[in-house]
Amino acid sequence: MSPNPRIPGRRSLHSPGPTPLPDAVLHAMSAQPMDLGDPRVDANIAACERGLQRLLQTAQADVFFYAANGHGAWEAVVENVAAPGQAVLVPGTGHFSESWAVQTEALGRRVVRTPWREGLPIDVAAVEQALRDDRTHAIQAVFAVHTDTASGVTSAIEPLRRAIDAAGHPALLVADVVASLGAAPFAMDALGVDVAVGASQKGLMCPPGVGFVAVNERAFARAVANPAPRFYWDWVRRRDALSYRKFCGTPPQNLLFGMEAALGLIFDEGLEAVWRRHAQLAGAVQAAVEGWREGGALDFFAADPGCRSVSVTTVTVAPGIDVDALRAVARERFQVAMAGGLGPLHGRAFRIGHLGDCNAAMILGAIAGVEAALLTQGVPLGGGGTGRAVQSLAGR
Ligand SMILES: *Cc1c(COP(=O)(O)O)cnc(C)c1O
Repeated sequence: MSPNPRIPGRRSLHSPGPTPLPDAVLHAMSAQPMDLGDPRVDANIAACERGLQRLLQTAQADVFFYAANGHGAWEAVVENVAAPGQAVLVPGTGHFSESWAVQTEALGRRVVRTPWREGLPIDVAAVEQALRDDRTHAIQAVFAVHTDTASGVTSAIEPLRRAIDAAGHPALLVADVVASLGAAPFAMDALGVDVAVGASQKGLMCPPGVGFVAVNERAFARAVANPAPRFYWDWVRRRDALSYRKFCGTPPQNLLFGMEAALGLIFDEGLEAVWRRHAQLAGAVQAAVEGWREGGALDFFAADPGCRSVSVTTVTVAPGIDVDALRAVARERFQVAMAGGLGPLHGRAFRIGHLGDCNAAMILGAIAGVEAALLTQGVPLGGGGTGRAVQSLAGR
């Protein structure tokens, strides 16, 4: 391997996942693995289960972990809630709803889609209509992406519950909170969500490698009745007191050491404070973009300010601006790593992540670095972006 050139200081990681790791999480993960009979193994798993239940605000759902990424947790949902040939409804939110739909179809399930309205949240009326049109109740579940990390749009979950109930439809409500958990408010039980899907590497401030689902009794009963052949992903098999069965094999111990530490940090700060911090940092990024867009070359992808995510901001660029070159300058020269556009937004947008272990100084550094990269690339900017972010954080 060629030696990596030294990076002075730290490169600031502002992709919407993976996100930077707090030192406490890094330290917790540096412990030695343990034999599977060591009581500390079960204590660590129980702490992660309890912590996630608390974070998801559920008193009744079981948490099942997978040594997998978010796509693994998606697959777990598909395998447990629908059998091959059965249908699920995927409301369009952008790249992530479409990816989940494609994966669901690849597993032999049918997908009913509602159209993606670019820059806007889920079309709830279309969801309700699709459920009303499903007279035979072929649709087993609604797979809703809370924050679409490609669009930077957050869809409210509560209206979806109301739409399902108004249609008198028995479909389960499944919420993908991979990009929103630990950043935006989410209360599983109060929202009537039957299954929540998450992953370790975004708002949870852990490395990639753990996917998880929280499953209420209603959803668990569907899994019991579901004849689809499955093994590793099976919720029924995983509801077991033995940690070896809970994980269908060896738990990813060091990742779970990190998760326990990360959950502790979240509760020490306080859930309300964590949400408030994310809203403030997102506000600073959005203030900067408001300034930049006056130059005419950049704009928000999320048209409606009310649906802009507190986790990630997607900025569209005028034709002729090379996003990959811009990101390379930001990363290599100014040490700010941000993400590009995904799917239909490839080459049309860049994305600034502002979730997880992030504070005001970090976000100002990131915005200033991106602004420097934009200037380097000759992108016309309006009335100052970084200054507006400073004002936003100062409450001016
Ligand atoms: C990141 C993400 C996923 C996929 O997670 P991976 O760990 O990359 O497989 C799914 N849904 C949402 C909303 C995400 O942001």
